[in-house]
Amino acid sequence: MSVAEEFSRLYGYEPEGVWEAPGRVNLIGEHTDYNDGFVMPFALPHTAVAAFGRRTDTAVRAHSADLPGEAVVVSDPAPGASAGWADYVAGVVWALRDAGHAVGGVDVHLSSTVPTGAGLSSSAALEVVVALALNDLFSLGLERQQLARLCQRAENVYVGAPTGIMDQTASACCTAGHALFLDTRDLSRRQVPFDLASLGLRLLVVDTQVEHAHSEGEYGKRRAGCEAGAAELGVTALRDVPVAELPAALDRLSSDEVRALVRHVVTENDRVERVIALLDAGDVRAIGPLLVEGHASLRDDFRVSCRELDLVVETAVAAGALGARMTGGGFGGSAIVLVEDTLADQVTKAVTEAFAAAALTEPRVFTAVASAGARRI
Ligand code: ADP
Ligand code: MG
Repeated sequence: MSVAEEFSRLYGYEPEGVWEAPGRVNLIGEHTDYNDGFVMPFALPHTAVAAFGRRTDTAVRAHSADLPGEAVVVSDPAPGASAGWADYVAGVVWALRDAGHAVGGVDVHLSSTVPTGAGLSSSAALEVVVALALNDLFSLGLERQQLARLCQRAENVYVGAPTGIMDQTASACCTAGHALFLDTRDLSRRQVPFDLASLGLRLLVVDTQVEHAHSEGEYGKRRAGCEAGAAELGVTALRDVPVAELPAALDRLSSDEVRALVRHVVTENDRVERVIALLDAGDVRAIGPLLVEGHASLRDDFRVSCRELDLVVETAVAAGALGARMTGGGFGGSAIVLVEDTLADQVTKAVTEAFAAAALTEPRVFTAVASAGARRI
């Protein structure tokens, strides 16, 4: 049954429309988005699809085909009143209203193919599909970047997850065949050609299916460490430390822990710029070593990798991949692997066998094609 048909069955009337928003993977630029730095995500073909109808009151009624249970009703969306997964829906309604936009109540039925908790931003897909639908239904006239900002506020304030702006911007603003270069300081962005199929290349996503406990606390510690580093260096954010000045900056820091965090962020921003230069020059294969370098930095300096992610990267590269790295926040989730089309099966097999040999859960592997951002369908 389609999302629209299921909506009608659930709520007893036809939806006014159906919208869709993708998950994302980040090609390069990890843990930079809360340091005013650079990121480079692209949208996945996996999307959250949702049917909407306006209500005559101000309540939000939401149902997910992917979860058992009745529709969740949030009669007065406000931070602190947790309704579980429906917070991602009610939170966006709240954020729009809180910003002064006239948004009434809605009924929502959704279904998503974005794997949850895999570092592929199923949460942002959900938020953005809601924001885009509300923007259309209530004729708000907001730009996509403004919608992304309000989705981030929903996630930060309503859901209570201290995430940056990358995920929501990617879901709202990506275009097919491109990676999105985003400067998280001024939110300037550029679509950078990233059409691998025409070059005989492939990008694999390997979902380790590992969801590490305590990742939020660890994320908070890294954030605080980055802020401490910026304060010690007298800059607004680590973005303001040019890579050429890194050695001098490291000398001025008081602890090895902060030194390692600063080194990751500064070199990672530089890697994003180098990847863009290579993509612009059409030299896509040459980004492989930068992916591997980025992974080593996340593993050794930022310390957000885990055994499974390291295993993907090591095995893939040993089996002939051009490059690989963990993607997303870390502590589990997914890795990406850049590989020649002709070697994709061989690399997938090597990774799967390595996981079996280590008695780990079989990872899910799929090809990620840079896809379109959110849209009405
Ligand atoms: P990620 O964004 O990396 O997938 P998050 O923890 O940020 O992980 O978001 C996952 C959460 O988003 C889920 O626990 C759930 O609350 C919500 N969510 C995502 N997809 C769906 C869905 N299809 N139906 C209901 N809730 C969903
Ligand atoms: Mg998320």
